[in-house]
Amino acid sequence: MRAVRDFVNSFLLVELLKGLSLTGRHMFRRKVTVRYPEETAPQSPRFRGLHALRRYPNGEERCIACKLCEAVCPALAITIESHEREDGTRRTTRYDIDLFKCIYCGFCEESCPVDSIVETRVFEYHMERRGENVIHKDQLLAMGEKYEQQLAADRAADAPYR
Ligand code: SF4
Ligand code: SF4
Repeated sequence: MRAVRDFVNSFLLVELLKGLSLTGRHMFRRKVTVRYPEETAPQSPRFRGLHALRRYPNGEERCIACKLCEAVCPALAITIESHEREDGTRRTTRYDIDLFKCIYCGFCEESCPVDSIVETRVFEYHMERRGENVIHKDQLLAMGEKYEQQLAADRAADAPYR
């Protein structure tokens, strides 16, 4: 009996029609795919991408070399060295992040008392040579300068929930 039923189903292309009906049901529904990279999905202001170090509007580095971010980092991805300036303030002489170790948890950002180390919305980056996975202070500061407007706007949007 089962053999007969299978034969009839196969003769009438029942499985094919079932598949086509499924396609037809979804054809006019709202599309959830995007044509990356021409289109991108919306990003949250809390998106955690590539890191940056920020400056104050007067150009002074925000980072005070307290090393809280280094201490809190669960992946041990941050390395900081610092020195005391003549005016008694402390600044970093080295600020490295190993992007291969980083798990983009955002703890460094959360721990920073002066909103210095932050994570940008940048997620399209790559390395071509050995060692480029470690980004240095000058690169981080350059990222901060480039995206300061977006970074400030994202922090302002998130401020009521902190
Ligand atoms: S995002 Fe997390 S893992 Fe990456 S550097 Fe910051 S604290 Fe470390
Ligand atoms: S980035 Fe922030 S938490 Fe890290 S050392 Fe500088 S001031 Fe401290």
